[in-house]
Amino acid sequence: AIRVEGLSKTFDTAAVLHDLSLDVRAGELIGLLGPSGSGKTTLLRIIAGLDFPDRGRILFGGDDATGLPVQKRAVGFVFQHYALFKHMTVADNIAYGLNARARSERPPQAEIRRRVGNLLDLIRLSGFADRYPSQLSGGQRQRIALARALAVEPRVLLLDEPFGALDAQVRKDLRRWLREIHDRTGQTTIFVTHDQDEALELSDRVAVLDKGRLEQVGTPDEVQDTPVSATVLRFLGDSI
Ligand code: ATP
Repeated sequence: AIRVEGLSKTFDTAAVLHDLSLDVRAGELIGLLGPSGSGKTTLLRIIAGLDFPDRGRILFGGDDATGLPVQKRAVGFVFQHYALFKHMTVADNIAYGLNARARSERPPQAEIRRRVGNLLDLIRLSGFADRYPSQLSGGQRQRIALARALAVEPRVLLLDEPFGALDAQVRKDLRRWLREIHDRTGQTTIFVTHDQDEALELSDRVAVLDKGRLEQVGTPDEVQDTPVSATVLRFLGDSI
């Protein structure tokens, strides 16, 4: 489980996160929703170790990870603009995080190849191992990016608008597919989206942020049926 405890973060003079706490249960897929600028990306970056809080703690299964750099956190992430490496094949892209490890922590090449093969099966792109990113569609690239994130067997998978740039039909297919992968792997996942329908459809629980504060967290039904504030109601209003 992942515990975020009393996080605060200020950039220059603007407070972006205010004393924010959130528990993510092992194996759950949690959707982070909120207006633009509410702090969703900042929260994800702090959990990843790409940024550090002014106050508060990040606990991974009880271990304090607050000061650890990204390489030591065993997190996987897919951001909208976090592109694949163009000069590497699909297989090398997926294996990247494993090959980047210190020799003593790196699995043998045969094991890496086995894992890459399994991941290609999981994302239904077996046969694509030797292709280059330029030979793939946008949706296929995002699937590869997801396989790359899963390859390190992350304690938590962090997705920031991973399908944001794709067209509506591809996005819909990927949503269904992400849920399927999640059900098969039980990977603890935090998913940021602007799209309330996407969050409500995919998530075990949704967390609604506003102005750096956590307004509400609950199952999609709970937040829709009993919104705790006008902000949550307003934000989910279109889909009620
Ligand atoms: P969006 O949905 O538009 O992506 P968000 O909810 O993800 O927004 P953040 O990207 O976390 O919000 O940004 C929250 C606020 O923090 C914004 O006002 C943003 O301008 C500010 N901010 C984020 N990163 C930095 C930074 N590195 N330096 C200064 N301000 C920043």
